[in-house]
Amino acid sequence: MKCPFCGHADTDVVDSRDTEELNAVRRRRECPSCKKRFTTYERPEESIIIVIKRDGKREKFDKQKLINSILKSVGKRPVSYNKIVELVEDIERELRTKQSEEVESRHIGEMVLKRLRKLDDIAYIRFAAVYKEFKTVEDVLNEIRLLKGKKK
Ligand SMILES: [Zn+2]
Repeated sequence: MKCPFCGHADTDVVDSRDTEELNAVRRRRECPSCKKRFTTYERPEESIIIVIKRDGKREKFDKQKLINSILKSVGKRPVSYNKIVELVEDIERELRTKQSEEVESRHIGEMVLKRLRKLDDIAYIRFAAVYKEFKTVEDVLNEIRLLKGKKK
């Protein structure tokens, strides 16, 4: 690590300990050139979740983007913003426990639907319409039949 005082390319670690509450390693470093000491907190980088889209393109999992797309389906339905954030965080947690860091967008859509069904029927149907690319009224009706069947 570069010295922040003199810019020397490398510094020595003189002490290293875990700080559990920060989920980081605290290191005391000393510059062999100017002899000044400083502290760093080093964190393991949060693993990145990669989403494979329908067209095969890959992009980083974007929590806010997913929240926004659910918000659109919810509209004025009685589902609070916090509920939606909770829903997305729950999905994110589940994705992080998986072995693979790649997930298909289709799979994320299903995870949303599974949770949205418990919150609000209308929001569920709206989200399904976008995500499953409904083309006809028949598609909507089929989904409603499916929804009613699952609730029995
Ligand atoms: Zn230095």
